[in-house]
Amino acid sequence: MELTEEMLKQLTPLMKQYLEVKKQYTDCILLYRIGDFYEMFFDDAFEASRALELTLTGKDCGLEERAPMCGIPYHAADAYIPRLVTRGYKVAICEQVEDPALAKGLVKRDVTRVITPGTVIESNILEEKKNNYVASIYRLGMSYGFAYSDVSTGEFYATQFNSENNLSKVMNELARILPAEIVVNQEMFMDNESMNTIKDRFNTYISMQEYVEENKVIIKNQKTYEELKSMQYAEKATQILLEYIQKMQKIDLKHINDIEIYSVAEFMILDNIARRNLELTETLRDRNKKGSLLWVLDKTATSMGGRMLRKWLEKPLISINEIHYRNDGVSELKENLMLRGDVFENLRNIYDIERLVGKIAYGTVNARDLIALKNSLYQIPKIKKLLCNCSSSILKDMHDKLDELQDVADLIEASIMEEPPVSVKEGDIIKSEYNEDVNEYRKAAIDGKTWILNLEAEEREKTGIKNLKVSYNKVFGYYIEVTKGNKSLVPERYEAKQTLTNGERYITKELKEMEGKILGAQDKVVRLEYEIFVEIRNQITNEIKRLQDTAHGIAILDALNSLATVADERQYVKPDVDNSEDIIIHDGRHPVVEALIPSGSFVPNNTTLDTNENRVNIITGPNMAGKSTYMRQVALITLMAQIGSFVPASYAKIGIVDRIFTRVGASDDLSTGQSTFMVEMSEVANILDHATRKSLLILDEIGRGTSTFDGLSIAWAVVEYISDKSKIGARTLFATHYHELTELETKLDGVRNYCVAVKEKGEDIIFLRKIIEGGADESYGVHVAKLAGIPSSVTSRANTILKELKETNIANKSQKENKKPVTSIATQFDLFNYKLGEIASELEKVNLDELRPLDALNILAKMKSKL
Ligand code: ADP
Repeated sequence: MELTEEMLKQLTPLMKQYLEVKKQYTDCILLYRIGDFYEMFFDDAFEASRALELTLTGKDCGLEERAPMCGIPYHAADAYIPRLVTRGYKVAICEQVEDPALAKGLVKRDVTRVITPGTVIESNILEEKKNNYVASIYRLGMSYGFAYSDVSTGEFYATQFNSENNLSKVMNELARILPAEIVVNQEMFMDNESMNTIKDRFNTYISMQEYVEENKVIIKNQKTYEELKSMQYAEKATQILLEYIQKMQKIDLKHINDIEIYSVAEFMILDNIARRNLELTETLRDRNKKGSLLWVLDKTATSMGGRMLRKWLEKPLISINEIHYRNDGVSELKENLMLRGDVFENLRNIYDIERLVGKIAYGTVNARDLIALKNSLYQIPKIKKLLCNCSSSILKDMHDKLDELQDVADLIEASIMEEPPVSVKEGDIIKSEYNEDVNEYRKAAIDGKTWILNLEAEEREKTGIKNLKVSYNKVFGYYIEVTKGNKSLVPERYEAKQTLTNGERYITKELKEMEGKILGAQDKVVRLEYEIFVEIRNQITNEIKRLQDTAHGIAILDALNSLATVADERQYVKPDVDNSEDIIIHDGRHPVVEALIPSGSFVPNNTTLDTNENRVNIITGPNMAGKSTYMRQVALITLMAQIGSFVPASYAKIGIVDRIFTRVGASDDLSTGQSTFMVEMSEVANILDHATRKSLLILDEIGRGTSTFDGLSIAWAVVEYISDKSKIGARTLFATHYHELTELETKLDGVRNYCVAVKEKGEDIIFLRKIIEGGADESYGVHVAKLAGIPSSVTSRANTILKELKETNIANKSQKENKKPVTSIATQFDLFNYKLGEIASELEKVNLDELRPLDALNILAKMKSKL
């Protein structure tokens, strides 16, 4: 509905007020509190009625046409708002900010909170074992600041990129944390290309937030403060994020009180592609946790531990000391079964303290939450005691540092009733012993109620009405009820109040007086209880930092315990992690495939990679033989070792890897309109550009997306480049169906051939899943086709064709061999490359500005004939 100037003038005061507020929240659905409802108008009403399946009605707004409207009862808001937010809407809540009974004229209204996908704290929207992040990107020229926070827990991180490849580093960070929402400064917002890539890749809500001079950073730790001040981009990213969060929440967020400044150089780098291919936290196909590495490793007892473990998986370490520090803790918990079991049992009784702290900071915590907090805190001394004889540094440090917070637990124990109601405004939350006045009021109310209970017996006696009843309802308060038949016995002091079909209700002076006392006392106690509750909440708010530190410790302990449990149950070994450049694995297994297939049926395999004799392992073998499983298993074992975990093998020596690259499978990147081959090549380009000698490369079927000759040439040249110590020289597993590549073993230094063993049995083949030295000479493609269910008439015809082709090939080869000296594949390539060179130099000579279409065609034809 388009509103003209003239129409605006005719609007009712309420509608004018609404539009005034709406003007500031154009990108939100505005929930406008009117009495007991949140109403939505105009476009918001259309959108919300569709999203929430609400009936669309109209409201008189002073114009001829009514304003489209839909609404939800205020008490049902908790059910509806999450549905809007999970559909990607921002929701602004506009409340009545003065008591309607006292308001002169129109009730004042104001937006009290904006709920966005990245700033929700409602536990019914948040996943328990997953953080929900809002991130910020601050761009200035070619440098970027990056910050992110989980407002439900108060975690806040910041970093900056001002050297090279800055934007791709930002992208890697986004791929790691997968924020629910992103905030960017104007310069970033105007960078269409980057913004489109982010939108395509991450499908998140993006808002613009300009940097404002005002300092929002609230860091208690002076060292962190100084550090942040010295990093201008990180600081600006932090500022815009805090500004945005505060603008949304409109309250001072006491739980965001520290910032972890980090550098991506402290962690193993994994780009979007590697994360997805390795299926670290979700599967590639249906994005389920089941089937991912996290699914195997997550035996955590608390949500906090679950989130911590996920963070570890997303950020493998590269510092030997840090890895050993963690791994020694896992080792101790693995060996000490009793300790592990006791720790788990105690952890199980701990609630999500991090998110409870979030609720405390927001002021949305209720008495039940505090009881949950108390019960959780009572586990801490028990855990501390369990850790007192530990020998690993991490567990010893934890024992020394763990703050038991008994003062907080005791405060809750002393003040809050054991089973309080959900609402904090209806009483029954504060213990009588905690406060003298609460005790008095309660006593008064109870005494009054006893008086009333006695009244019934007394009045029956006095009046002789056997079925006289004293009851209570909200409208009339206390009353005496007498049935019709006994009306004549009613004494004069009874005052009639209401006539029913078969009876009459009365009140008396004393009854009314007592009612006043009871209700007065109840009223007072409820109000007082709320005041005391808020006071207690504020007292706990002052201890937020301590609560967060304890929660952090508990999360780490839980994650360590989880890794220890899996290590024990699945018979993993402690890896030898060092600064060498070796990856030596004996009897390695794929952690996820092993867990998915019947126990004992996984065939273990060895691996030898280093940066000398065994730089590149070329792995050949038929489809379905187990090549990709094998390669991923090496990557996963390496990654597990670097998060401090044990690994599925009988022995593993892992020289720290700075980055894992993967190039696996083929999928069209339809969103960017690139073909499979183009995607493949740009992924390879990225690898060749960024891999270092310390990297681990997993390359599956390079060159598959084009013609055989092209593909083989590319694969060949890629292996040459990667294995060359002066260029990359990285540890590489290279699976290929080009058997010609096995020739490279004899031609290049550091290249080794491996294949997956198969056994022929009559017409069929059996996959042995064993990686053995040497190259495969058969593809068994037709066999695999048969296994896949291709009709036998087709596969047997394919076999005939294959036989013919092989025979012709041999015949051709011997013919050529008679005429010419032996031409190896390599020299064939040299020839090919030579021709390409000729074509290139001809192309270079062409002057495009003067070229006529006919000349172009002629040149093309010439080139084609040359090829
Ligand atoms: P390829 O990459 O050679 O086509 P995959 O690695 O996809 O083959 O393996 C095919 C299937 O074989 C896997 O889904 C897995 O179930 C099974 N498999 C692979 N390796 C093993 C192994 N070592 N032990 C048992 N089963 C395996």
